Amino acid sequence: MPKIDLDFDRHHVWHPYTSLTNPQPVYPVARAYDVFLELEDGRRLIDGMSSWWAAIHGYNHPVLNSAVVSQLERMSHVMFGGLTHEPAVTLAQQLVALTPAPLQKVFFSDSGSVAVEVAIKMAIQYWGALGKPSKNRLLTVHSGYHGDTFAAMSVCDPVTGMHSLFKGTIQEQYFAEAPACRFHEPCTDEDMADLHLKLERHHTDIAAVILEPVVQGAGGMRFYSPDYLRRLRELCDSYDVLLILDEIAIGFGRTGKMFALEHAAVVPDILCVGKALTGGYMTLAATLTTGSVAETICSGIPGLFMHGPTFMANPLACAVASASIRLLESYDWQASVLRLEAGLRRGLELCRSFRHVLDVRVLGAIGVVELQNPVVMATIQKQFVDKGVWVRPFGRLVYLMPPFIMTDNELSILTAAVCEVVQSIQ
Ligand SMILES: *Cc1c(COP(=O)(O)O)cnc(C)c1O
Repeated sequence: MPKIDLDFDRHHVWHPYTSLTNPQPVYPVARAYDVFLELEDGRRLIDGMSSWWAAIHGYNHPVLNSAVVSQLERMSHVMFGGLTHEPAVTLAQQLVALTPAPLQKVFFSDSGSVAVEVAIKMAIQYWGALGKPSKNRLLTVHSGYHGDTFAAMSVCDPVTGMHSLFKGTIQEQYFAEAPACRFHEPCTDEDMADLHLKLERHHTDIAAVILEPVVQGAGGMRFYSPDYLRRLRELCDSYDVLLILDEIAIGFGRTGKMFALEHAAVVPDILCVGKALTGGYMTLAATLTTGSVAETICSGIPGLFMHGPTFMANPLACAVASASIRLLESYDWQASVLRLEAGLRRGLELCRSFRHVLDVRVLGAIGVVELQNPVVMATIQKQFVDKGVWVRPFGRLVYLMPPFIMTDNELSILTAAVCEVVQSIQ
């Protein structure tokens, strides 16, 4: 295999959130299999990130590989305008079956951010069709993350989403305090007060509330009470506002439920899924909505939903997503997630005793160590690689989201590395 030209990479290839004049080191990966990333120099890292939470079955899985190959031999892509195909229809059937019954209509797109854009457009077209075009803003909570495109960015946390940088070019939305009631706690009226107040004041120009159910991911790795979601659903109904739930980070089992909304038994009007949808093989996302939202949108002017990506419902991506869901359903994944939850609790507990650690929290296959101060990425990244693990913290958060197939032994190596590295940086 040709060697990667790292010098060219440094000077010409942008990586996520990086500078090209002062590039951070990147590690060349030659292959990935099972829970391992193998670097070009032969070093093998245990992956604690599932490639941004997507590779729930690990890498190079024979079942997923064969789904891609057999689809590839039929067709890799055809346009979705005026044509349809088996992989898209099968996947849509699976998504409709897996999600709450009222969610019946599926829109495929290429990435999570676009799925969020689509959800926002649906909400705005919905109110437009009902003769309420002033209901075109969104209400969300602080510490959220919904993607990097403009509308998605407008509902990310204003500080970590760096709204100031794009002031004037992104829509200003309404923000309520982040949910304060923790996962196992009930919520009080006071916990809902700020959100309630914003709805009361602004509901006539709010199309929808958007948030990540139960787990706020890239905006802060916070877990909050399912009770909050139940109360939010009631508030949305009483103020005539749609509810958009973004399950892109944690859908497909990560929290111990197939979808995190199941912790609260709440049904959104619009649901976004992505990331683990294809088992991390390819980029694909979907936005689901109810029959009633879809019918309303299609009854308004121009009688259509106004979105249509070039690579909509890419057959390769749909085929592998379909296979990934079948694979998940073929074994007791819930037991695996519970096993990882126990291992993360056991393995990360030690961090709680370090003075510079503010919190250690675990939910499903998510383990978070929250530090007092932000990490220095370049040094901490190297420390992890030197210990044979792949962990990529952000800000003050060192977290693990391992593939569901990780063994207890691999997980304990991973958590031990986190404890050692965290201890060393105080
Ligand atoms: C990652 C993420 C997105 C954006 O998905 P992309 O595929 O990166 O565009 C949106 N919402 C949530 C909750 C996410 O975690």
